[in-house]
Amino acid sequence: MIDCHYLEPTSVSEACTLLVEHGDGAKVVAGGQSMAILLRNGLSQPSHLISIQHVTGLEDINASSEGVTIGAKVTLNRLNGIGETHPTLRALDDVVRGVADQQIRNFATLGGAICEAHPASDITVALSALHATVKLASANGERTVPICDFVTGAFATAAGPGELLTEVVIPSFDLASAAAAHRRFALRAGDYPVVGVGAFVSLDGTGNCEDVRIVVGNCSGAPVHAQEAESRLRGNSIVGNNGALAEAGELAAAHVSPAGDPMAPSEYKIDLVSVLTREALEEAITRATS
Ligand SMILES: Cc1cc2nc3c(=O)[nH]c(=O)nc-3n(C[C@H](O)[C@H](O)[C@H](O)COP(=O)(O)OP(=O)(O)OC[C@H]3O[C@@H](n4cnc5c(N)ncnc54)[C@H](O)[C@@H]3O)c2cc1C
Repeated sequence: MIDCHYLEPTSVSEACTLLVEHGDGAKVVAGGQSMAILLRNGLSQPSHLISIQHVTGLEDINASSEGVTIGAKVTLNRLNGIGETHPTLRALDDVVRGVADQQIRNFATLGGAICEAHPASDITVALSALHATVKLASANGERTVPICDFVTGAFATAAGPGELLTEVVIPSFDLASAAAAHRRFALRAGDYPVVGVGAFVSLDGTGNCEDVRIVVGNCSGAPVHAQEAESRLRGNSIVGNNGALAEAGELAAAHVSPAGDPMAPSEYKIDLVSVLTREALEEAITRATS
């Protein structure tokens, strides 16, 4: 039996106060889809569970010229199809439809998916490729952290004591010349991916690569930013340049040294990085040019 206190604050400030009051023993629970597994397996033994289910103000999706802001409690099922209403988020859409199953996605929240910091989380990978930031609230106020700095390792984040993730901000970009895409490979539908790759490209007026971002998941504790592969493409012609995209894939693969796991040996993951990087880039370029 799990023996802990279950608290239900109704505001962000109350939740933050409770987190400070109960210190290290306090853990946030949102949709509970990962937390239930941690509790069941004795991997987390909190003295207090702070449920944010009744905390208001964390369930909105708002778009402005700056970008799209998604509240921490927005469920993954609400994000399924988000690319249709918010086309800059098509890469996020690529991911959420493959996460677990309908029942889990009904409860699982975006904030929970990020804060779990699972090495295979491809939600974080897609959001990193999109240059997303997360907003953290605490009794001392708010701060914003790029998501690529937020996940610091396997199941580890930069959230300090008493901090609650309140929203995710994905900056806008010009859909006429830029796009992102995510490609993943999982052994079975609903599994965490063996490897996932997120790619963002923006093109200049001549079709050359102005900016690019390639992020690889499940090859290290935290998503890996494949900088050499990006350098190969930045400033160069990439539309229809299959050779350059294949080279970028190989450079991304050379950049990672994943441990093998029960899903796949290291060599197989490295091969996947090469293929998925090329495919994610191809799809991002297709979107940016159509
Ligand atoms: C079978 C299965 C398959 C999955 N497949 C994938 C996959 O393919 N790709 C993928 O990316 N993910 C996958 N997931 C992970 C899934 O995305 C997460 O389980 C889910 O999104 C967690 O959300 P939650 O609201 O249930 O979080 P919870 O379980 O409630 O919390 C998860 C963690 O985040 C913390 N937390 C939650 N919300 C906050 C907050 N606002 N501020 C601070 N800390 C917070 C909790 O303390 C806890 O440590 C899978 C999960 C399962 C169970």
